[in-house]
Amino acid sequence: MARLKVKHADEKEYLQAVQEVLETIEDVYNRHPEFEDSRIIERLVEPDRIFTFKVTWVDDNGEIQTNTGYRVQFNSAIGPYKGGLRFHPSVNLSILKFLGFEQIFKNALTTLPMGGGKGGSDFNPKGKSDAEIMRFCQAFMLELWRNIGPDTDVPAGDVGVGGREIGYLFGMYKKLAREHTGVLTGKGMTWGGSLIRPEATGFGAVYFVQHMLHRVDRDIRGMKIAISGFGNVAWGAATKATQLGARVIAISGPDGAIYDPEGMNDEKIAYMLELRRSNNDVVAPFADKFPSATFYPGKKAWSIKCDIAMPCAYQNELDGDDAKELLANGTWCCAEVSNMGCTPEAIAEFQKARILFAPGKAVNAGGVATSGLEMTQNAMHISWSAEEVDRKLHEIMSNIHHACVQYGTQPDGYVNYLKGANVAGFMKVATAMLEQGVI
Ligand code: GLU
Repeated sequence: MARLKVKHADEKEYLQAVQEVLETIEDVYNRHPEFEDSRIIERLVEPDRIFTFKVTWVDDNGEIQTNTGYRVQFNSAIGPYKGGLRFHPSVNLSILKFLGFEQIFKNALTTLPMGGGKGGSDFNPKGKSDAEIMRFCQAFMLELWRNIGPDTDVPAGDVGVGGREIGYLFGMYKKLAREHTGVLTGKGMTWGGSLIRPEATGFGAVYFVQHMLHRVDRDIRGMKIAISGFGNVAWGAATKATQLGARVIAISGPDGAIYDPEGMNDEKIAYMLELRRSNNDVVAPFADKFPSATFYPGKKAWSIKCDIAMPCAYQNELDGDDAKELLANGTWCCAEVSNMGCTPEAIAEFQKARILFAPGKAVNAGGVATSGLEMTQNAMHISWSAEEVDRKLHEIMSNIHHACVQYGTQPDGYVNYLKGANVAGFMKVATAMLEQGVI
């Protein structure tokens, strides 16, 4: 860690992600001298390769715009590189390296053969027209296409990249490579996409929460849930939680939080999607449309009293003070759905209070797992029914929960899901690296 801090002093998100994993796997690592002999940690924290490229495109005013594109191919010990693309102005190498590093363990937890990768651009989709989004995606793929492939590296969506963007990216890949293969996941249903993929991250997260709750003899029905964000992941989580009888009383955006004591319903959930599609990145209009809802400018969803908190937006969106506020309001479960959504201080607060806390790499793994199922269907040239995919997603989330409990149960019976997820993912990847020699 000390060496990494010197080498990558300005990559704070990446250092945070590595530190969290190393701290939790320490005792297991020390019990396996063969890992140390093979310098597994030193090899694991270094990405296999990173591509950085220029993306130039022309906006609707005829102005030439320049962005930076990236793909981090982090680790392929257990399968082709796999992970999303993030389009957001905050994107830089530190963020993509942290996401790629997390992805290694998350993908290992799914039990499917997928390595870890991540990519994206500092392109800001906010306020862009559909034609601008298309031109940007085409220019991005013009550079990326030579470095990806259905058995090499399979990108997908992440923040700022949804079905529309995957369509434009795929169209350009197909034109350049002259092949129609499963090179991207999150595709449209008529051209190779998997049913349930759009819902999968949010659905999987709620299935995971159900398992956590059942273990302590509780049920999600009637629980008050606060969710942050209003994008694809928040939408999927709100949909499934509502279907199962929970009350989603808060959502949020960069502009503030919405409190709706009546909870979500089909109409409100559909409106979340509409808001997202408008590309304005504001949640305030929700309160204009639904009289039961109130908008709190500048507030986070964590100021609202709830049983279960589900961060569904960005890294470090729930800090130590937010955790204290949630705990003071009686929150007894936090399921991180965003990648590294909680700061180390927040996690320490939750664990000190002995409430249920599970990390993003376990809770949100249903998204990439269903991407893995999309790859399988593409490779077999078939498509499964929604019921079939949902059943498999259920099974995967149940297995991940089981692995977390197996590796994370403490002598006093408290389940440290963070440790459980990291150790389970690490053991699989480290063993594969060991068996494949020094490469
Ligand atoms: N971006 C999502 C994640 O963080 C999904 C990745 C994928 O489907 O490949 O896991």
